[in-house]
Amino acid sequence: MSRIAVAVAGAGRAPGSVRLLAVSKTHSPARIAQVEATGQRAFGENYVQEAIEKMDALANSLGESRARALEWHLIGPVQSNKTRAAAERFDWVQSVDREKIARRLSQQRPPNLAPLNVLIEVNLSGEASKSGVAADQAAALARAVAGLPRLRLRGLMAIPAPSRDHAVQRARFRAVRDLFERLRAQGAELDTLSMGMSDDMEAAIAEGATMVRIGSAIFGAREKVKSAA
Ligand SMILES: *Cc1c(COP(=O)(O)O)cnc(C)c1O
Repeated sequence: MSRIAVAVAGAGRAPGSVRLLAVSKTHSPARIAQVEATGQRAFGENYVQEAIEKMDALANSLGESRARALEWHLIGPVQSNKTRAAAERFDWVQSVDREKIARRLSQQRPPNLAPLNVLIEVNLSGEASKSGVAADQAAALARAVAGLPRLRLRGLMAIPAPSRDHAVQRARFRAVRDLFERLRAQGAELDTLSMGMSDDMEAAIAEGATMVRIGSAIFGAREKVKSAA
């Protein structure tokens, strides 16, 4: 997406330093296949069951080997009764905000798969949702996750409340980046800062995002809002 390249260059950052996660929630396997055909491999979904139905449909329509090349990220809240399916089918879980969920994901990650990549979702101020761990608990949760054998802690994810004010957007993303840098200074080996959506990706990239999660700017408006399945 050229908006990302423009924002990366404008921020004086290295080309290719920001990954695109295509957020495909509510969109059909056929639409995902169209985006896959442009070379996109990483897709984000909010609901475990909805995602698994699409993974299975795509394994049929794309064929096993192309479907295996896809990388699936869970970006919605994780309920404890969905951790097994999440651990079995996803490559990343970006929305870990409780140690109990992290422990279950680690226990349930199948031994034949690589460790599950995990981001800790943080909630620093005025987030759009109630999920996410507060700043003063992030370090303890990061240490707990880093100690779990079948998880690989990669970084932080945040969903700041939307604002039309670019300076406000930047200040909120900067607070997440500051926390990310503090955790790294304490020794956490983190390489991923997931922040920025269709309406605020430029501010997030200016503040150091390494992954932006983009739905409507790729797929258009969402077809319908699904309830948590
Ligand atoms: C839906 C969603 C996105 C994408 O939002 P857009 O505004 O459509 O780009 C990104 N992150 C999370 C956690 C989401 O739920």
